[in-house]
Amino acid sequence: MKIAPDLVASLARGRTVILVSGTNGKTTTTSMIVAGWGGEVTTNETGANMPAGHAAALAGSHGDRVALEVDEAWLGDTLRSTRPRVVVLLNLSRDQLDRANEVRHLAERWRKALESHDDVGLVVVANANDPLVVYAAEVRANTEWCDVPTTWIADALSCPKCTLAISHVGNSWHCNCGFAKPVDVTTVLGDELTVDGDVVALDLSMPGEFNRSNATLALSALHVLGVDLDQAVKRVNAIHSVVGRFSVRRWNGHVLRLLLAKNPSGFAAMLATLPEDGADIWIAINARVADGHDPSWLYDVPFELLRGHRVYCFGDRRLDLATRLDYAGVDYVVVDDDSTVPPSKGTISLLANYTAFHDWLTRSQS
Ligand SMILES: [Zn+2]
Repeated sequence: MKIAPDLVASLARGRTVILVSGTNGKTTTTSMIVAGWGGEVTTNETGANMPAGHAAALAGSHGDRVALEVDEAWLGDTLRSTRPRVVVLLNLSRDQLDRANEVRHLAERWRKALESHDDVGLVVVANANDPLVVYAAEVRANTEWCDVPTTWIADALSCPKCTLAISHVGNSWHCNCGFAKPVDVTTVLGDELTVDGDVVALDLSMPGEFNRSNATLALSALHVLGVDLDQAVKRVNAIHSVVGRFSVRRWNGHVLRLLLAKNPSGFAAMLATLPEDGADIWIAINARVADGHDPSWLYDVPFELLRGHRVYCFGDRRLDLATRLDYAGVDYVVVDDDSTVPPSKGTISLLANYTAFHDWLTRSQS
């Protein structure tokens, strides 16, 4: 990249590119696009989502179809270098605030990048229920709005345009200044998924409402490119895990379902998928470089939802987690020595943030 600063641009030239960005769901949505598209698709499946990772992915294969996930802070640069056909914007929420941009600043940067992008053919596929995403995407003439359930609104309580409070009513939102949820949605996810008026047989193997939302935006992006959705959705439905996420693994006689959650909105979405059966939950938290050194975000996670469960606390920052759980009134056990964990019944849900997830993926077996 030092020798050839335009490497990404020259590698992307002439190829059909879809970019995916947002705080949560980038890797999963990109995998869904790759699977749904079918055949050979060049992608950065390991999650290296900055220019060096994009260059490596683009150099690693010469197919003309490309799906790349992009770090939120790099979206503007990547738009200019790869000149995509479609950009998918999932959501924006607080994440690693000790090292990343404040979320409203990111929305502002997205908006400016989209406003100044000179390719009129670009189609933006955007989440109409996230006011920060709408603020960024509304500057484009060619936007496919997706009406997908979005429960995390804590980062969009005040209007990005005028700072007054946004009213969230049912499945809609508006501000008194006139900034509001777009009315011209083309894709709607309710009990069933409709894209451009056609019902699509979405029936995912992976759990969670957020995965249905991810799939909705992925399929909407493929629809823009003219991909047959009946075929695409079958391939998306068949995905069981994405780089270990949602996979069922074995460790020391325990059966674990590995769930990645690394910021408050991601955790909130993941907690909502847990059965209310009072089963033990395992949570592993680290605060290494890739996680962000500051674990204070644990106080923004609605751990109160876990009352009635016993939570086993793992990872470098298990004491920070346990303290948070104590305030939440949740029963917990701090695991200093793995060999002391009692045998478990059934499949345990293990929620872990980034490096903790990789530790558990490495130490467990399929
Ligand atoms: Zn306003």
